[in-house]
Amino acid sequence: MAITDKIYVKNHQQLASQLETSFPKGAFKGATLDILFQGEGLAKLDEASRERVLDFAEDFLDCDCEANPHCGCAERKFIAYLLELREEGMGPDAVVDVMSDEYMLYAYPGDVLSFLDNSVRTLEAVETLADVDGRDDVAEEVQRRRNRLM
Ligand SMILES: [Zn+2]
Repeated sequence: MAITDKIYVKNHQQLASQLETSFPKGAFKGATLDILFQGEGLAKLDEASRERVLDFAEDFLDCDCEANPHCGCAERKFIAYLLELREEGMGPDAVVDVMSDEYMLYAYPGDVLSFLDNSVRTLEAVETLADVDGRDDVAEEVQRRRNRLM
């Protein structure tokens, strides 16, 4: 399961009752993207929630793909966002605090930790392949990225 399948909407019950409809708890579920983040119910949300929902839509759902918001861009951007927070030196708990402050989302720190570990391992594998291929420039760049994540 991708990390984006383990990102949840905070105050889910409360938001669902404000919108007078139900949607899944998972932030990247198709119906959540449609109902909460792209829906017409925005006006029904309290101001603080509305602001965060809008921020999320602006930051992650702003692509021009025909399939938006189901094109996969949101997931890719969110993964880049998580890696950026890590590169700024945050641990899993801090990453969860920040996503909660900024977008009213949460995840379990253990899931964030496995995601970060997997990212490092993926970069290690890429680095090894680049080494084997004699592509030193690529290997070095990947190593730099990996070091920033550790
Ligand atoms: Zn897109």
